[in-house]
Amino acid sequence: MKYGGIELGGTKIVYGIGDEIGLLERHSIPTTDPASTLQTIKTYFQEKKVKRIGIATFGPVDLSTGTITTTPKPGWSGVNLKEWFKEWDVVIDTDVNGACFGEVAYGAGRGKQSVVYGTIGTGIGFGVYKDGKLLVAEGGHQLIQKHPSDHFNSVCLFHSNCMEGLASGPAIEKRWGKPGAELENSEAWELEANYLAQGITNICMMYFPKVIILGGGVMHHEGLLELVREEVKKNINGYIAVPEIVLPELGDNAGVIGAIELGRRG
Ligand code: ZN
Repeated sequence: MKYGGIELGGTKIVYGIGDEIGLLERHSIPTTDPASTLQTIKTYFQEKKVKRIGIATFGPVDLSTGTITTTPKPGWSGVNLKEWFKEWDVVIDTDVNGACFGEVAYGAGRGKQSVVYGTIGTGIGFGVYKDGKLLVAEGGHQLIQKHPSDHFNSVCLFHSNCMEGLASGPAIEKRWGKPGAELENSEAWELEANYLAQGITNICMMYFPKVIILGGGVMHHEGLLELVREEVKKNINGYIAVPEIVLPELGDNAGVIGAIELGRRG
């Protein structure tokens, strides 16, 4: 039996098929207008005779109807994904929950009852898996305390001190005048770890995850993971168990693998 999966991202769409064992095929196309991209994928799934489909999509999305709501992405506002793929049963979730589910099924979250997946990149988002279910969360916009030495204005249009506004890739680039990939200033990375750890500590207090998996481009900086671990441990201060904090095992394939798994489990 074959199942289809789509990871619908802001710049590219990754889709493919899999079975009970895992990923069989993977393809990637740029996210242009919905009609041409979704038709390409629909034709592919028809040829492959998939049984069911899972979709992990950028938001905001109304998960009950499958409609992408208020995105500024041209043409995508109001697109109904369930309608597009109505000849199949479709399971829809957020992009971060898709990646979280992929890691739970085949990666760093295997065998764990409660797992949080965080993406720290152009945006910040968290997927939460607890006792067999994916929960809806907007952890990237939780409010955190600004460091007294940080006089930078948040890049979030809605919040002056949310995690995404202060610690996403664009925030790093704007604050320090160069992208994270070229930034070797230890003060910069200590501040980044402080902000990430604040948000992650809040998530620990709310969901008691056994493992927190941190993906996304910002986490590629060597040593950042260790700094975040230390800070989270300090913040928790012995109050509850400190979860394992690790990098993803599935890399760029977590989203599409998670989407296929959503479809497979129905
Ligand atoms: Zn925000």
